[in-house]
Amino acid sequence: MEENFIQLSPDDKFRFSCASSLLCFNECCRDLNQYLTPYDILRLKNNLGISSGSFLKTYTSEHTGPETGLPVITLRTDPASGSICPFVTPSGCRVYADRPSSCRTYPLARLVSRNRESGNLSEYYMMIKETHCLGFRNGEEQTVREWIKEEGIEPYNRMNDMMMEIISLKNQSIPGELDVKSGYMFRMALYDTDAFRSQIFSKGIETGNVNKDDFIAAGQDDNALLRFAFSWVKHNIFLKAS
Ligand code: SF4
Ligand code: SF4
Repeated sequence: MEENFIQLSPDDKFRFSCASSLLCFNECCRDLNQYLTPYDILRLKNNLGISSGSFLKTYTSEHTGPETGLPVITLRTDPASGSICPFVTPSGCRVYADRPSSCRTYPLARLVSRNRESGNLSEYYMMIKETHCLGFRNGEEQTVREWIKEEGIEPYNRMNDMMMEIISLKNQSIPGELDVKSGYMFRMALYDTDAFRSQIFSKGIETGNVNKDDFIAAGQDDNALLRFAFSWVKHNIFLKAS
């Protein structure tokens, strides 16, 4: 599969439209090596109507990132059957409304870097032009900015930026692998959010230096719960250690 990458700024235009009538339909949902962010998992498990624990057990594989020492979650696929996504059907993606950020952003990829001193993020987009994908010959032109809005990418970007902040903080405060307890809490808070909610509201784990309004909101709304989890991990694992 040949591909080339073209950097685009927010107002650059590109022509692309995916459609079930194209001969390449579903071709992009095989040969997967799909990383999942905490927000991807939240959206997918809610789409499927299952708990975060069931989602992780049924659909994902986990390993420890060699550079970050943090858990890395990927969609589990079977190489013997072409590493096809478990959510693809003959009529398309069965979790389309809540598909992961990278599927949603395709044929673009978002790249973000963080300034060490100011902590400010800067982003840019790359267009991934793969020869098998016929979407580049299809549809109208749009700007990158229009694509982000149209595909509902913004909420994913905001949550994924919080994850980036956590990874950067972790690298500064705890180089290498986390201790067993911190690793367990990190994974539960960010990926197994239903278990985390149960821990904080039924079993009463220390909420530490976390805003009380955020704590109350976390009991009522999954997005607020994940934002609370990022804040909890930041204050109770990484800032404590620095
Ligand atoms: S046009 Fe591209 S994104 Fe759409 S189905 Fe074909 S390969 Fe996938
Ligand atoms: S989640 Fe949907 S869009 Fe993404 S690879 Fe799977 S079937 Fe394709």
